[in-house]
Amino acid sequence: MTQLSYEDFKVRADTVQAQIALTCIQAGRQPSEVELLAVTKTHPAFVAEYAALYGLRAVGENRVQEAVGKRPQCRATIAWELIGHLQSNKARQAVEYFDRVQSVDSEKLLNHLDRAAAAVGKILPILLQINAGKDPAKFGAEPEDAEHLLTVALGKSALRVDGLMTIAPLSDDPDVARRTFDNLRTIRDDLAARAGVPLRELSMGMSGDMAAAIMAGSTLVRVGTALFGTRETI
Ligand SMILES: *Cc1c(COP(=O)(O)O)cnc(C)c1O
Repeated sequence: MTQLSYEDFKVRADTVQAQIALTCIQAGRQPSEVELLAVTKTHPAFVAEYAALYGLRAVGENRVQEAVGKRPQCRATIAWELIGHLQSNKARQAVEYFDRVQSVDSEKLLNHLDRAAAAVGKILPILLQINAGKDPAKFGAEPEDAEHLLTVALGKSALRVDGLMTIAPLSDDPDVARRTFDNLRTIRDDLAARAGVPLRELSMGMSGDMAAAIMAGSTLVRVGTALFGTRETI
């Protein structure tokens, strides 16, 4: 990719924000209810500076190692969120380099993150990643394990559960994404009522399925390609 200029990025970001606003209106929601998370994975650190300059709160990365390399190079103040699979042995680094971890999908990982956060005197915000599309190719806790996972998470004094995250299965059928997002919303409403916690954040929707996610109640869309162009690697 030839180097993306800030002006080009701004045009793309304005377009994405306009799509978010339009979909919110169609859904009878306020545009301020849906946050744009800029997914900067595989792109150089300066694009995180673009996101900050544009006024976004946070960027998303899917690998700990990449953030370890890039975050120190980023001169802007912006939050970093982990959206990709995390192995327990990287929990300490994840706590050090990320402001929130969206991909928490096991009790083992909860234990490691809680211990790592407590050791540095931090309260780590997290989302529980749920495999709401029942996709064998995706990480995430199975929906029937979600309640147990939440109970364990709520018992961890160094973790704060903000809500749920999901990734829709890749499919040519737009109904698959819609069903996945509706399912996550239902799981959230159910868990929130049973556990008596708000679980406000519903992180769902990417460049290709953002509208369906917003219609289903997404509060955070994770967008890479529509902001920064296609990636050469995953
Ligand atoms: C890469 C990635 C995204 C962004 O995908 P785009 O299609 O480029 O918008 C969103 N969520 C997760 C978990 C990702 O890994």
